[in-house]
Amino acid sequence: MTIRVGGAFLAYCLTVAALLGAVSGSFLTCAAGRIVAGRSFLTGRSRCDACGHTLGVRDLVPVLSWLLLRGRCRYCGAKVPTRCLWTELLCAAMAALCLLRFDLTVLCLRNWLFLCCLLLLSLVDWDSFEIPDGCHVFSIVVWVAAAPFLGWLWRDAAMHVLCAFACGGALLGISLALDKLLGRDSLGGGDIKLFFVVGLYLGFVGTLFAVILACVLGLLLTVLRRAARGESVPFGPAISAAAAVMLLYGDALTGWYLTLLGL
Ligand SMILES: [Zn+2]
Repeated sequence: MTIRVGGAFLAYCLTVAALLGAVSGSFLTCAAGRIVAGRSFLTGRSRCDACGHTLGVRDLVPVLSWLLLRGRCRYCGAKVPTRCLWTELLCAAMAALCLLRFDLTVLCLRNWLFLCCLLLLSLVDWDSFEIPDGCHVFSIVVWVAAAPFLGWLWRDAAMHVLCAFACGGALLGISLALDKLLGRDSLGGGDIKLFFVVGLYLGFVGTLFAVILACVLGLLLTVLRRAARGESVPFGPAISAAAAVMLLYGDALTGWYLTLLGL
């Protein structure tokens, strides 16, 4: 079902989407912190990491709480990472862009849930160099659940599944070859599984562009991080960012690139 939105209703829908996105961003930040700490993110109240005080509703209003408290805990004054604010703002923007791009459709909901998964696994990977398998499983379940409602022929779905195995298999092969060549681990298992899921969502052309974009972003992030702190970075956030860009604007980007080549 597609509901075309426009005018004042569009502005209303975008505002609601951005608000829900900001709330989701707040949840994802909290979930990522708990996953890294090995705790469940489905139960228990939110607490300050520094003093352990249980946070109330007024401490958890996305974006506003951080701004009003100037990035500090209300109870002990400990700094709340700026990343919390940026994650909420990014999630609000992603929700609005997703609605603009896909309207009120099942595809919009499917892609929004996938974007949330990409953001969550990026936050966890950034801190722990591990990508939780649960993110992949959730993304695959969402893809399978949405497929019957997208008006696809069975061939369309089969091509995406084929692409997932081709992409995952190719990256596994490249990773094993690099491991042997370099004498150390190159791609992590979580990255290869992530490429499988990206292939499932993006199909052949989108995935090809996403792999190239992920490599460019990964290289850029590594150079910047090494220069600033001398630390290495995980590959998951770069893959996720590339997949998100292709998911939202893949058609426009591939069209523009093919025009450049005169095709
Ligand atoms: Zn505190």
